[in-house]
Amino acid sequence: MRILDKEIYYCKSCKKVSNSLDSLLFIEEGSPVSFCSEDCIEQFYSPLVDFFNKEMTKTRSDMGLLDEPALDYLESPSLVQKHMKRPDEIYRFENQLKEEYYALVSKFENDGDEFEFISLCFIFNKAPSFIFAITSTSDAAFAALFKRGEKIESISDFYESQIATELQIDEEVMKNVEFKKNSFLAEHLELRKDFDIPFEKFEMYIDYFEKTLEGPDELYLGEDEEGDEQYIYIKAFEKGGTSFFYLVVCRHELSEDGEHNIVMPIMSFPTIDGDLCEHYRKGKQVSGSLKN
Ligand SMILES: [Zn+2]
Repeated sequence: MRILDKEIYYCKSCKKVSNSLDSLLFIEEGSPVSFCSEDCIEQFYSPLVDFFNKEMTKTRSDMGLLDEPALDYLESPSLVQKHMKRPDEIYRFENQLKEEYYALVSKFENDGDEFEFISLCFIFNKAPSFIFAITSTSDAAFAALFKRGEKIESISDFYESQIATELQIDEEVMKNVEFKKNSFLAEHLELRKDFDIPFEKFEMYIDYFEKTLEGPDELYLGEDEEGDEQYIYIKAFEKGGTSFFYLVVCRHELSEDGEHNIVMPIMSFPTIDGDLCEHYRKGKQVSGSLKN
C-alpha cells in the first residue's frame, strides 16, 4: 500500500497532487478548497468573476446607473487600498452548503460628493483573499442590494484588535507605522507610472508577500527620513509570462515581551517598473535572508 503512505492533497483547479499542506493556497476561511498556484486560483474562480460582474452591469443597466460618476473614484489607488484594508461595514452571506461570500462597504466623501465602495470577495485570515467584483456608487438603492446577510458588528474586533493583541505590539508603534504608511504611499504614487500593475490587481499578488519575506533576492537595511530603521525586501518573480518585482518595506519590531522579532510591513507591492524598483534599493545591502 505504498500509494497511501503519504497524505494526498490535490489542487482543486488543475488536480495536481501534492503530499504536503505547506504548498497549498487557501482562499476561503474554514474550507478545504485549496490550490497549487495563483494562476489556478484565478482560473478556478474566473467564471464567478464573470458572473458577478455581469450581474452588476445588468443591475446597473436596469437602474439607469451604467455611467455613474461615482465609478471614477475607483481610479484612486489610495481609496481602493483603504477600502480593502479597512472597510466601514462587512456583510457575510452563507448558502445552505455553508459557503461564505462577503461584501465590504466603505463610505467616502469628496468635495460634498458622497459615495460608497463595495466589493464582493472571499475572506481568509481576516483579509480579502479573492475579489470577485468592486464597484463605487452614490445610489443608496443600488448599495442596499449588497447589504444583505449577517452584518459583522465590530469591524475593529474583526481586524485590528486581533493583530495588535496577537502580536503584542505597542499602540504608539502601531500609530507610527500607520503614519509612515501614509507618507510612503504619497511618495509611491508620485513615482508610479501608468503602465505599471494597477492597484486593483494588487490583491492577486498577495501570495508573493510571504515568498519575498522568506527568501528575498535583495535585502537592504536603511533609515527613513525620521531616522528609523527600515528593511527593504526585493524579489523577482514571473506570473503568466510577465516578470515583475515584489517589494516589501518594513520595520523589525521587538514584541512587548521582548521575545519575538516582528516584521511590521509599511508597504508592499508588485511592480514591473525597473526604475521604481531601483528607487527602493537604498541603504546597506544585507546579505542572506532574514527570518523571524
Ligand atoms: Zn493547480
